[in-house]
Amino acid sequence: MATHHHVLIIGSGPAGLTAAIYTARANLSPFIIEGEPSSTTDQPGGQLMLTTEVENFPGFPDGIMGPELMGRFREQAARFGATFLTDKVTRVDFSARPFRVWTRDQEFTADSIIVSTGAQSLMLGLPNETALVGHGVSTCATCDGFFFRGKEIVVVGGGDSAVEEATFLTKFASKVTIVHRRSELRASKIMRDRAENNERIEFKWNSAVVELQGTDMLEGIVLEDTVTGERSQMNVAGLFIAIGHKPNTGLFTGVLDMEENGYLATRPGSSYTNIPGVFACGDVQDHTYRQAITAAGSGCMAAIDCERWLESEHASLA
Ligand code: NAP
Repeated sequence: MATHHHVLIIGSGPAGLTAAIYTARANLSPFIIEGEPSSTTDQPGGQLMLTTEVENFPGFPDGIMGPELMGRFREQAARFGATFLTDKVTRVDFSARPFRVWTRDQEFTADSIIVSTGAQSLMLGLPNETALVGHGVSTCATCDGFFFRGKEIVVVGGGDSAVEEATFLTKFASKVTIVHRRSELRASKIMRDRAENNERIEFKWNSAVVELQGTDMLEGIVLEDTVTGERSQMNVAGLFIAIGHKPNTGLFTGVLDMEENGYLATRPGSSYTNIPGVFACGDVQDHTYRQAITAAGSGCMAAIDCERWLESEHASLA
């Protein structure tokens, strides 16, 4: 027997939890399926659970750790009556109302849905990469940095994530090399300056990782010069991949309209998807800003859109 909810929120990063705070305060008793703790892609709290210090979230002049920030969002939503299920959504059916959502062993129905499933790390696509995740290859410095105390580490990427990960990893590693495929970083100036002034960080420009060496454990990498094509080998114990993200939209293939780049399409200036009553917010629909604060802002938009839509539906049924 399916349990029914007024508002069902899928995903619990800054967008989903802000939508939960707003819909809870609007007496809509939101139900949040928050994700699975063991997963690196669907973890409750979203990507901020894999970050260290967040210095740019307004209201925290001294910075706050990502997991603590998300803990506070969740507590605030729970205070106003939001309820949570720690599980992963496996299937949805939005073809008729009430909408239907399944986890592995439960079924739910809902009058409205807010999708806030976020985005996940991109990988290099090398043959043994997945097998080596957790065995020297990582996408999360906060989670795994500790294991590389006193060792040499490579971070791949040239954006803010790569620089942030590299800077954090200098707390543990003897040396961190940022390997970037071009000759300049994409990262913001403040992050760039921080990395360039850190004596434990070195740069390897115009370089791509083309091979991961080791079977049970990463032992080294092969680099290819992106200008000359020349190859070189490096012995490293850890490889952190920080080359961007892709939206978590697998559940919605053929269900919700998407942009060409795979992000969920929303009506400009709103959180409306192509299905009335289904709203999307946060990194799953935002490929431009992708910040915790913009995700939270769009979660607020989704809650307000949802509340108004439910009201108009109720009025039209009355
Ligand atoms: P990003 O800005 O998209 O940067 C991705 C980097 O990885 C780029 O330098 C890109 O190279 C490189 N790359 C992409 N695919 C690659 C591949 N297959 N092989 C090798 N290199 C590859 O992603 P991000 O760093 O994750 O940042 C995403 C957003 O979050 C940005 O808006 C960023 O400002 C924000 N962010 C902010 C903070 C902070 O303020 N504390 C921290 C993290 C992220 P090219 O440069 O050649 O394209």
